[in-house]
Amino acid sequence: MAKVLSGTAVAAKIREEVRAAVEACRTRGINPTLAIIRAGERPDDLAYEKRVKSNCEKVDIAVEVFEASQSVSQQEFEKLVKNVSNNPDIHGILVFRPLPEQLDEEKIAGLIPIEKDVDCMNPESLAGVFLGSENTFSPCTPEAVMEILDFYGVKIEGADAVIVNRSMVLGKPLSQLLLKKNATVTLCHSKTRDIKEHTQKADIVVTGVGQAGYFGPDFFSQGNTVIDVGINFREGKMCGDADYEKIEPLVEAITPVPGGVGAVTSMILLKHTAQAAQRSKNG
Ligand code: NAP
Repeated sequence: MAKVLSGTAVAAKIREEVRAAVEACRTRGINPTLAIIRAGERPDDLAYEKRVKSNCEKVDIAVEVFEASQSVSQQEFEKLVKNVSNNPDIHGILVFRPLPEQLDEEKIAGLIPIEKDVDCMNPESLAGVFLGSENTFSPCTPEAVMEILDFYGVKIEGADAVIVNRSMVLGKPLSQLLLKKNATVTLCHSKTRDIKEHTQKADIVVTGVGQAGYFGPDFFSQGNTVIDVGINFREGKMCGDADYEKIEPLVEAITPVPGGVGAVTSMILLKHTAQAAQRSKNG
């Protein structure tokens, strides 16, 4: 039986840390505030906005929504992002993606000041991750993976870590965070010759291909700690990339889905916003 690495427990710990940071800000007269910038009213965006607002409310972080129309021009949207960026009462900025197709997402991402870039959208923030900078925010999901490993005392130094994903939101930045902690990192992807050969021998396996149950027991061995980042839906139920029922009896430790990485990821956004507020003004 594997040790179950519940993300809910990790999220609860971070929530308490965020509450304390928000309280410390308040004593300095700072009201931690997250800005959501949205173009149009995509149902996905509205659902995400509702979740973010509810999470922020629980830790007393204020949320301001800045809304543009679906047909907003590049010039108008840039003006909006610049205005929000220059507002000293806003500490974190979250621009909902994908943006409508007439907008140049890369250009807009570059307008978000890195000290307010709590979702790591600006390429400069990502560069900070690769440079090992302490002044930029990492993408939320890789940081959530690191928080889970840290919370459960999984040894990273010297460990062989295999990530099956090479995207900019997960695999590439996570490889840097693991390297910084002295893991030996391998990135696998759709063109990797034999993924099993890598995963079976690894100490830590991070799965993120986005295919329900893709990773069966033949990918794993007894010593694996499995961090399942995949979020999929099968017959209306949320599940990860790993075939949890079959793998859980086999491996050393595993994150569940739901209640794993996703639960922590949403908390990281709040952590970043509180940190951005703490660093603001005289912080
Ligand atoms: P993505 O950009 O589509 O990347 C998928 C990665 O998986 C790519 O590197 C791809 O390889 C690789 N891949 C796909 N099929 C594969 C296969 N059969 N064998 C080996 N590698 C394969 O997706 P993403 O945005 O990184 O997200 C990945 C998953 O994580 C999704 O399920 C998403 O919902 C989930 N996610 C979860 C959270 C969370 O908080 N839990 C947050 C973000 C994303 P190539 O590069 O060769 O195409």
